[in-house]
Amino acid sequence: MLITPTLCMLLIAFATAALPAKVPRGLGEAGARANATRGAKLIALTFDDGPKPYVLMGTRSGKGVLSQSLLGLLDHQGVKATFFVMGWRLSQNADAKCRQEDGGVCREAAEEEHRRGHEIENHTYGHGNFRSMVKRYGEGWVLNDIERASIVIQKTTGERPTYLRPPDWTIWPELEQKIEARGYHVMTKSSSVPPALRDVDSEDYFCAGRDVTKCPKPSDYDYVLRDIAQRERQGVEQHILVFHELPQSVELLSRLIPELEKRGYRFVTLRTYMAAAHGQ
Ligand SMILES: [Zn+2]
Repeated sequence: MLITPTLCMLLIAFATAALPAKVPRGLGEAGARANATRGAKLIALTFDDGPKPYVLMGTRSGKGVLSQSLLGLLDHQGVKATFFVMGWRLSQNADAKCRQEDGGVCREAAEEEHRRGHEIENHTYGHGNFRSMVKRYGEGWVLNDIERASIVIQKTTGERPTYLRPPDWTIWPELEQKIEARGYHVMTKSSSVPPALRDVDSEDYFCAGRDVTKCPKPSDYDYVLRDIAQRERQGVEQHILVFHELPQSVELLSRLIPELEKRGYRFVTLRTYMAAAHGQ
């Protein structure tokens, strides 16, 4: 190939642009991306309770429920998301149950999430409510349930999770401190943290299944946009949105993602989001 002076300049410009920005020591890649996103309108899309192959890959559940492919949608929209998975689904013992109920091997679906550049975080192993589990088995059991999930996630993706979302957001300060002492950031809806670091509940789980009487009116689409508009009025332009791996949510997001992009939002993984939001 003949390298002309113009092409040479272009190559230099490209190489320079590809260099990571100077970042504080320890923040690494997420920090580099955070530098580029600081102060920007950002959304971290997160999904709880998976992996569910029929929703992720767009197949059919054991009950015959069809879904569009969530991973396909995210790819199509160029969005990287964060999945708070239940650890038990990633164990080999779950393969048969996953095939039967969720139309595929959950473990393989998690591998696929990771392969496509999404982040996988901890939603405990068994998804037991912390209050009831502590009452029944003690605090040590809950801490072990979190660790068990991290081990199986790391076995699947090679990466250890750093975020923990308690089932139903049930948590209290003493337990939270113990979890954080083990290296996790605990996700919360509590007003004790700044709005940008609070989970925004889409309430999508009210819009699935047989009883949809609690599904936000006139629609969940309007509900999420209204919530974001309200936060914007308080000067908050960064949001952690919580959805579940449900066919309804894939359909909802196929409209929500383009609308939010039109309003100037960029979608990033939780690590990138937190590095940017904390740095404000
Ligand atoms: Zn959950």
